[in-house]
Amino acid sequence: MFRRVLRLGLTPGRQNRGLRTRRGGFTLDWDAKVSDVKQKIECMMPGKQWGMPFDTSYLPPTQSDVVIIGGGILGLSVAFWLKKLESRRGAIRVLVVEQDHTYSRASSTGPSVGGIWQQFSVPENVQLSRFSINFLRNINEHLAVVDAPLVDLRFSPSGCLLLASEKDAATLESNVNMQRQEGAKVCLMSPEQLRNKFPWINVEGVALASYGMEDEGWFDAWSLFEGLRRKVQSMGVLLYQGEVTRFITSSSQMETTSGEQVVLKRIHKVHVKINKSLEYQPVECSVVINAAGAWSGKVAELAGIGKGLPGTLQGTKLPVEPRKRYVHLWHCPQGPGLETPLVADINGVYFRREGLGSNYLGGCSPTEEEEPDPTNLEVDHDFFQNKVWPHLIQRVPSFKTLKVKSAWAGYYDYNTFDQNGVVGPHPLVVNMYFATGFSGHGLQHSPGIGRAVAEMVLEGEFKTIDMSPFFFNRFYLEEKLQEYRIL
Ligand SMILES: Cc1cc2nc3c(=O)[nH]c(=O)nc-3n(C[C@H](O)[C@H](O)[C@H](O)COP(=O)(O)OP(=O)(O)OC[C@H]3O[C@@H](n4cnc5c(N)ncnc54)[C@H](O)[C@@H]3O)c2cc1C
Repeated sequence: MFRRVLRLGLTPGRQNRGLRTRRGGFTLDWDAKVSDVKQKIECMMPGKQWGMPFDTSYLPPTQSDVVIIGGGILGLSVAFWLKKLESRRGAIRVLVVEQDHTYSRASSTGPSVGGIWQQFSVPENVQLSRFSINFLRNINEHLAVVDAPLVDLRFSPSGCLLLASEKDAATLESNVNMQRQEGAKVCLMSPEQLRNKFPWINVEGVALASYGMEDEGWFDAWSLFEGLRRKVQSMGVLLYQGEVTRFITSSSQMETTSGEQVVLKRIHKVHVKINKSLEYQPVECSVVINAAGAWSGKVAELAGIGKGLPGTLQGTKLPVEPRKRYVHLWHCPQGPGLETPLVADINGVYFRREGLGSNYLGGCSPTEEEEPDPTNLEVDHDFFQNKVWPHLIQRVPSFKTLKVKSAWAGYYDYNTFDQNGVVGPHPLVVNMYFATGFSGHGLQHSPGIGRAVAEMVLEGEFKTIDMSPFFFNRFYLEEKLQEYRIL
């Protein structure tokens, strides 16, 4: 029975989840504010003992309606939509806590290669891409800030090309049919057509290809990130550098109709450890958003998620962990021309152009057995030499002469269960919402994910795209939301 309830999405605590329905949580505590000001004035009055309060301006606020853990692209997008959709200006206080403001150690957003495509096999992912492309097309209507330069995403509308072998051709074709129904302009190409359109390609082993003729390509991830960051600050969102290390929760026991005992938890306070200090500040809050990227599994654990008996909902972990991925950038004057799309080959190797100067970038996800040690961000150049380059040459013979110019590594926010995102509330920790686990496609979907999470928080339901297939419950129910291919 409990499983059935989860499947229907009617988990305990889901009703009346929207912020609007809760009373009192989002009005400013005026009494406390007034008494605070009175106290400050009083202690400055003649005859009163000098009692200037300590300077606490370096601390995060002691209260915030929403605390977002993680200031990457998804955390910022959730913050943006919460402020955009709030019922009146200033109604919701939003605090984003980010442990590393340099974004050099733990963030997935910085190392991303900026690809956007609609060629997914899960319809909601196609809908997210459609939503994103409209957002990106009108970026300055969304992110412009008075007196600041306009956001330039440097979008390259070169399309994406997916190649399939005989074995995968039927799946590719049925995916394209679904994508077209969702409004994507994707065409199928035979090896002959491929050769005509892209004369630099060797079609050996390719039975069928799909090509996005519109709304696909790549953009500058950092420009989107910077634009969002500037915008949310202008909307009153507080960005704070610190690490979330602990949650203070209250629990209540509940029995389901099938007699299963479950413990519902609510987070009341989030402990924010001050950067380069042992000090921490408890922040009282009503809602917590787990947008901690590759580290969101660890953050979920802090709230007790996955810490029950194996096989129970309480014992079900958030299966998101860091997986190291390399990107190599190479120069090849003999390489494919300006009309080159982002190519995803049969074996998982991908590449695209970078700028106009005969530069390209690309890589490949390792197999489970080849997964590199994620405790550092060192680049394994042999991986490119042995696992990527031979495939590149096979597909594009002119890449034989390429010279590697640079390389970097970054973390996928990798969902080990089905490599798809996790969106919406946790069924037992009732005020923790997820925006995580998108593995290799979180950047392009960030506008739609942010909106979906904000709708769930504010309205208690998804309004724009039904993201219920992305609920946490699927891990417990063991129902995979598998993508045909992730880059
Ligand atoms: C090499 C590479 C290529 C990619 N290419 C693409 C692509 O072409 N297209 C695409 O759509 N996507 C791509 N992605 C995936 C995409 O970059 C990610 O899905 C997306 O950036 C995830 O955003 P995020 O905000 O969830 O994560 P992040 O940017 O990692 O943000 C999470 C933040 O949480 C912070 N944090 C963690 N724990 C705590 C804590 N306890 N307290 C405070 N802060 C905390 C971290 O410091 C981090 O900055 C790529 C990723 C990589 C690595």
